[in-house]
Amino acid sequence: MAKALIIGSGIAGIATAIRLAVQGYQVEVFEANSYPGGKLSEFEQDGFRFDAGPSLFTMPQYVDELFVLAGRNPKEFFSYQKLDKVCQYFYEDGTRLNAFADAELFAREVNNVTGEPVASVKKYLTNSATIYNITNHVFLEQSLHRLKTFLSRDTARSVLGLPGIDAFRTMHKANEGYFKDDRLVQFYDRYATYNGSNPYAAPATLNVIPHLEQHYGAYFPIGGMYSITGSLVKLAESLGVIFNYNSKVDEIMLDARKATGLKVGEKNINGDIIISNMDVWFTYQRLLKAHPKLFPRKILGQERSSSALIFYWGISRSFPELDLHNIFFSTDYKAEFDHIWKDKNIFHDPTIYLNISSKYKPDDAPASCENWFVMINVPANVGQEWDTLVATARENILKKLTRILGDDIESLILSETILDPRQIESKTSSYQGSLYGTSSNSRFAAFLRHANKSSKIKNLYFCGGSVHPGGGIPLCLLSAKIVSGWIADDFPQTS
Ligand code: FAD
Repeated sequence: MAKALIIGSGIAGIATAIRLAVQGYQVEVFEANSYPGGKLSEFEQDGFRFDAGPSLFTMPQYVDELFVLAGRNPKEFFSYQKLDKVCQYFYEDGTRLNAFADAELFAREVNNVTGEPVASVKKYLTNSATIYNITNHVFLEQSLHRLKTFLSRDTARSVLGLPGIDAFRTMHKANEGYFKDDRLVQFYDRYATYNGSNPYAAPATLNVIPHLEQHYGAYFPIGGMYSITGSLVKLAESLGVIFNYNSKVDEIMLDARKATGLKVGEKNINGDIIISNMDVWFTYQRLLKAHPKLFPRKILGQERSSSALIFYWGISRSFPELDLHNIFFSTDYKAEFDHIWKDKNIFHDPTIYLNISSKYKPDDAPASCENWFVMINVPANVGQEWDTLVATARENILKKLTRILGDDIESLILSETILDPRQIESKTSSYQGSLYGTSSNSRFAAFLRHANKSSKIKNLYFCGGSVHPGGGIPLCLLSAKIVSGWIADDFPQTS
């Protein structure tokens, strides 16, 4: 039985382990941290529980699929509920917009709040669905680096549809073309941040994202986001996968140009198949540093996605006017993105994302309190003076929330943890603390992401947010599907 060694237990590493175990391989995972999940982890703080990273759960079918593959009923192990209202939006001019999951209801809400015709929203969503139908098969579900992908009839159909994916203008330009109301343009521009990109640079192809949220819905996992990690690790273990924690991989061992195993501390572990779920940039720089000639330099030089600054606050009272997902928009979105992408610093009036899981999972906070996950988008870490930037941003965030919510927020903070790009980088080995690997600010981004298999080192594969098809939980789960399919072709199981 071929033996697969996986570096990292991020969501893609765990999903790959499950798929390979189901396919009959012997699988062992090596994780540097003392816990699984990478960015998708949790922690406790003074009686409050926080999901450390992702908070928006979409495309749950990709998680369910793993249980089904293993012959289990997903509902017995992992459950979630659909959100009727995905998010609520606060604008400084006093506007409140509810992003209802139901498209009809949402179009009517937009019409009531902004005056934009119901038909314009529907037309927008139809376009978003069209982009999805053209791109999904080729750009998301398969490798862009295999001949096999381009020989299928589905791919030929997608290629014929390519002019419809709106790749030649920016998201912002396209959104301005659809809507007159700046608030709605800002609403749709925000979807660029779902993969850490800039709506003033990213191609309008990314306007596919609203379709994913509006059509497939947004969900809350009943046990919190961490239950995705927790339930999948249990499933993997039940299939015989071995997880080694506190086991930082130091080197990928090569014999000529073939990966043969891992060095973990003093141990050499041999394997037939090596899969890195570690950020691809650090995989080369740290684990293959003796082989610089094998680095794909152009691919590794791609611009990184944005990072985040997060304040985890235990709050001493509850706010009935807030929901699970809340956005407090900046008054000048263009200036905010220019600060992130051109100046590499933080705008004085950032858009604030506030997630409160205790709204749906009351035991995440003590009685009549709330667990606030307060996040703003910030540039990737290129050595800025983060201590100063964080202190200033904290002040500006508190002022904005206090102004809009009408209560002195600072006086309500019972406990606090702060996560900035430096810690995101060190805790999960994400180059520059980027949340989603490389950015999608160019129309070529999809083609310039690292493949799921090395073209220079035999038996070396990649999964996770820094490689094809990109970052975010759903795409990481798809990377696991692509890589395990590729391995099945390369290492057919005989029994
Ligand atoms: P990662 O989570 O990056 O994990 C990689 C693992 O590899 C880590 O556990 C690390 O310790 C381990 N590792 C690294 N080096 C070594 C080594 N040498 N040896 C052994 N192990 C090693 N996505 C969404 O879908 N929705 C959201 O709302 C969302 N919000 C986000 C908010 C934040 C603050 C962050 C940080 C991310 C967010 N994302 C969101 C993105 C999503 O979390 C990631 O795309 C996804 O979790 C990445 O998973 P991964 O499989 O690439 O591995």
